Amino acid sequence: GREWHLLSRPVGWPKPENFALVEAEVPAPGEGQVLVRNKYLSVDPYMRGRMSAAKSYAAPFELGKVMQGGAVGEVIASDAEGVAVGDHVLHFFGWREYAVMAAKNAVKVDPDAAPLSAYLGVLGMTGLTAYAGLLRTAAFKEGDSVFVSGAAGAVGSQVGQIARLKGASRVIGSAGSDEKVRLLTEEYGFDAAFNYKNGPVSEQLRAAAPDGIDVYFDNVGGEHLEAAIGSLNEGGRVAVCGMISVYNDTEPAPGPRNLARLIQTRGRIEGFLVGDHYDLQPRFVQEVGAWVRSGELKYRETVVEGIENNLEAFLGVLRGDNTGKMIVKL
Ligand code: NDP
Repeated sequence: GREWHLLSRPVGWPKPENFALVEAEVPAPGEGQVLVRNKYLSVDPYMRGRMSAAKSYAAPFELGKVMQGGAVGEVIASDAEGVAVGDHVLHFFGWREYAVMAAKNAVKVDPDAAPLSAYLGVLGMTGLTAYAGLLRTAAFKEGDSVFVSGAAGAVGSQVGQIARLKGASRVIGSAGSDEKVRLLTEEYGFDAAFNYKNGPVSEQLRAAAPDGIDVYFDNVGGEHLEAAIGSLNEGGRVAVCGMISVYNDTEPAPGPRNLARLIQTRGRIEGFLVGDHYDLQPRFVQEVGAWVRSGELKYRETVVEGIENNLEAFLGVLRGDNTGKMIVKL
């Protein structure tokens, strides 16, 4: 089977020569292990962080070795009790066609309950990120006015819709193309949306939220964060989920220049990691799963085919090629 190795650590934007697609032997599962043929691979912005040597919440990918990431596949050989050939599992051995792992690292998923790729997106890690970040970190409550950046992406599109379904007074989103912006208002039920490439974020946000915002869900950082702080109402909360605008920077980006506004507003900025919130998973799957089934919450996926395009799919997420969750289908 083929697998993607990290050869050298990218500086700035990752380049093809930092990576190699390598042919690897497919091992037989040992005792307590299963062999999985991957069907869907996840590519996510946080993987950029793992390509760097800097210490972070997830260890750096090792040079000369296969990278990791979320994946869903079918068990094709099993030497583990309770896992049978033909079962489908969610696990963390992506960036490869075949994976052998301890059965305890594979979570069974039901292909009849939802499309398999949904376990990587709308009902998976990115969905829980939206749910936990909005409801817990940002302490969303009915009547809040909510602004989310990266709003046409996997996390952002769900943040906006969960806010709407839970009674937000106004939902505002920003995204990087006019087409994405249309999707937000026409399909996802946002009250207002703008293309951050069309003009200063602060001005566009003020026009979209003339009464200010109570919650900002930050996927982007940079200019967006400063603009959101500028529009924050009294008691406003900022949940820092991601800062994709700086992931490829080689110099630290300047911080928001208006933090003094937090005094007047008694505002709060707080970062969070989805990994700390898996206690919400059952509630999330129940609540959001029901909205997905009823059609009240809509989602899109951008699907790229073939292990050979795994790297391009990842780079595409950083560029904004995706609408909704970026998925690699094998
Ligand atoms: P998305 O599906 O949102 O894809 C990333 C999007 O970011 C792109 O589609 C692009 O859309 C946008 N983007 C890229 N560069 C910029 C830029 N310079 N300024 C503004 N937008 C940009 O990815 P995810 O939903 O998976 O992740 C969203 C964010 O959440 C990321 O920052 C990620 O790191 C973070 N995250 C954090 C987690 C946590 O535990 N804290 C867990 C999961 C994700 P566009 O066309 O609109 O520019």
